Amino acid sequence: VNRIRLILGDQLNIHHSWFSRVDDSTLYVMAEQRSETDYTLHHAQKLIGVLSAMRAFARELESRGHRVRYFRLGDTDNGHSFQDNISRLMQMHGARSFEWQQPDEYRLEKELESLAESLTVSQADSMADSMADSMADSVADHSSVNTRKFSTEHFISAPEDFDPMVKDGKIPTMERFYRRMRKKTGILMEDDQPVGGKWNYDSENRSPLKDASDLPSMPYSLRNEEELWEEICQEGVESFGSPKAAEFYWPETRTQAQKALNDFLANRLENFGIYQDAMVDGEPFLYHSLISFALNIKLISPGEVIESAVQKWGRKARDDHRVLASLEGFIRQILGWREYMRHVYRNGMPGYGKLNHFNARRPLPSWYWDGKTSMNCLSKAVSQSLEHGYAHHIQRLMITGNFAMLAGVDPDQVDFWYLGVYIDAFQWVEITNTRGMSQYADGGKVATKPYAASASYINRMSDYCKGCSYNKKLRHGENACPFNSLYWHFLHRNRSILADNHRLAMPYRTWDRFDPEEKKAILKYGDDCLKNIERL
Ligand code: FAD
Ligand code: SF4
Repeated sequence: VNRIRLILGDQLNIHHSWFSRVDDSTLYVMAEQRSETDYTLHHAQKLIGVLSAMRAFARELESRGHRVRYFRLGDTDNGHSFQDNISRLMQMHGARSFEWQQPDEYRLEKELESLAESLTVSQADSMADSMADSMADSVADHSSVNTRKFSTEHFISAPEDFDPMVKDGKIPTMERFYRRMRKKTGILMEDDQPVGGKWNYDSENRSPLKDASDLPSMPYSLRNEEELWEEICQEGVESFGSPKAAEFYWPETRTQAQKALNDFLANRLENFGIYQDAMVDGEPFLYHSLISFALNIKLISPGEVIESAVQKWGRKARDDHRVLASLEGFIRQILGWREYMRHVYRNGMPGYGKLNHFNARRPLPSWYWDGKTSMNCLSKAVSQSLEHGYAHHIQRLMITGNFAMLAGVDPDQVDFWYLGVYIDAFQWVEITNTRGMSQYADGGKVATKPYAASASYINRMSDYCKGCSYNKKLRHGENACPFNSLYWHFLHRNRSILADNHRLAMPYRTWDRFDPEEKKAILKYGDDCLKNIERL
């Protein structure tokens, strides 16, 4: 073996150029490490999902003739860190070259950079020690370990698509970046104009779903992962949430992920746009694609997802406005938001991970970990997340995220929960959505205003309020919905920070028109809610 190539658990891209040629002198290394299972508290399904997909990927590589060294969690020679596993293998094989793919996460980027540096130094040292002084001139040549980082060949955009748009440290809005990417790629474009004449159909994509009796079925088949789950437990890896090991459904292979994508395109994309913000009690998936996990571990690529969507619906979208709104809405999530968040992360880390614009310090209520709250919307969104490792965007943004921001929960604790709870949670796309979009803790880098809402929004977009013991209409008094008072409490207490935001001018005008006694009662009820937050 001359060359060792590391593949991370979220780099399962079988179409990467690395694999286009079988080369017996290259050893591919994959490792289930405690450094990865334990850097945060993961949902049980995320652990099962990533490990089973890694194992399937290693089998696929071997079946194509590649040499693979796979460390399982329980292997006695697993050093459980990249430093240990890789440097040992490099020495064992006398390998002269270490290669890796650009990690998405800052933590891993730094770790692998220092591993590469240490390999160069330590190999040079050990070779130098073992050679006679007379041969010293050739040491550098003989001992040098080549280290090289490759692209993951996954994302559509490159740093050059984003970085020139940053002016005096100010990043562009998602909409500007998205339009630039539409123009660059020609996706949904006619010459230099957007198909249909508009760039963005978001305002048409906000309908509640009144009749949920005819929803398409889950696109994934169930499989049994009890053996793997037992292995994880035996090794003492901590986790939370339901493992669903006997009925596991998140994809482990590219074929399963492609099948789910095709199922989405055939059965759900047409209604995706119009109902993408809707929430229905007891229906976690609605018309969403459920492909974020497959995308984030790179079983499928954003380019192929968009291409398949355009191939199937592009022609119809030209003369069916509803289809165009849906298709554009879906493409915006991937070509726009997903690519954009990666650059926001790249551009902002490590400082981004510490931003706390409102100086929020409250601990996360304990019911985020078990769903035991009388607020029906929160109880259902949390319970569903624990059950499936999944909640759709609006549940994450406008229910769990909205409440945490209104209550002034410390963004560190909010991030910790989001990074653990979702099957698709990897820091680059989790923290930008959580700290940025949902908590406004970045002071408006990602969102142009805080996504704050009272019960009237939740009631308009869902049927949660019907089954709730709180009264959605009341701002204070017995059983008044906590969202109503906390909404005003949030705006009131952060006024000095938010007053200049012209998008909040209207709510502040409304607040100023309230009777002083009403204001007092709202703020008092908000205080009581915060004092009794564990009992809400
Ligand atoms: P769909 O609703 O079908 O959307 C299609 C695809 O678009 C998704 O698979 C995803 O790849 C992409 N997408 C949509 N919205 C976003 C977005 N805001 N940012 C980036 N990509 C997007 N997404 C993650 O992948 N990982 C996370 O850890 C994550 N954490 C989030 C935390 C919060 C507080 C919020 C508000 C959103 C978060 N998102 C995250 C974004 C989004 O909620 C999920 O991507 C989406 O719900 C996944 O479900 P789906 O595949 O059915 O998506
Ligand atoms: Fe949520 Fe309030 Fe509606 Fe209850 S009444 S479901 S707490 S928004």
